[in-house]
Amino acid sequence: MLVVLMGPPGAGKGTQAERITKEFNLLHISTGDILRNAVKEETALGLQAKQYMDRGALVPDEIVVGMIRERLARPDCAAGVLLDGFPRTVEQAEALGQVLESLQLKIDVVINVDVEAEELLSRLTGRRVCRNCGATYHIKFNPPRVRNICDHCSGELYQRSDDTVETVKERLDVYSKQTLPLIEYYQRKNLYYAVDGARSIDDVFADIAAYLQGKQ
Ligand code: ADP
Ligand code: ADP
Ligand code: ZN
Repeated sequence: MLVVLMGPPGAGKGTQAERITKEFNLLHISTGDILRNAVKEETALGLQAKQYMDRGALVPDEIVVGMIRERLARPDCAAGVLLDGFPRTVEQAEALGQVLESLQLKIDVVINVDVEAEELLSRLTGRRVCRNCGATYHIKFNPPRVRNICDHCSGELYQRSDDTVETVKERLDVYSKQTLPLIEYYQRKNLYYAVDGARSIDDVFADIAAYLQGKQ
């Protein structure tokens, strides 16, 4: 099964992806995670990507498409994949279609988690991430058992440098202009499923899980 998980920044993609991939045994591929890792490792790609990520802009299509092409070609993808945060532009979606065709794969469903802007702002500014395992928390909505310590691995939690009010506003603007058109794109292909993301983490997951059960 190949699932695309989309939605504005802060909608809960990463949070839901953690659960969906576990439940349905899918490989979690997040372009945001791959890019942050490249930045941390200071690779050539990371150094290039950093300047865009820091100001809340999208990293150019050629870079992310190249990354995804390379990742999807690896044999561990055969069992099933959940793409989180890719595609984010119509051009990326077109390129993904070509990559999948060359690998004789196809998208089964595109799930869009939708949440209004004001809620996204408080979700993102309160987000904390485990430095060690990448698990996502929220200081109010999904706090760890011990302050600043990951429940899963006892790693230290940190705040992403792009989760500031100013950069979040820019990211939301970029989302409206560059990513929203994808909804219509996938609706036309009959792949689109919308989920109301303004509910609890459990309720959103139950909705997605029930839908995916029916697709298996
Ligand atoms: P995305 O990957 O879409 O940017 P995340 O999964 O990182 O979103 O979630 C953004 C923030 O909102 C995190 O702090 C997360 O703990 C919190 N969050 C996720 N889902 C919900 C929800 N349904 N209700 C409240 N907070 C949520
Ligand atoms: P979000 O919580 O905003 O959904 P991500 O972790 O998915 O965050 O992405 C963080 C940043 O990484 C984005 O603001 C963007 O700069 C870059 N990025 C991630 N995925 C893509 C993509 N598909 N295309 C271009 N840039 C991307
Ligand atoms: Zn952890």
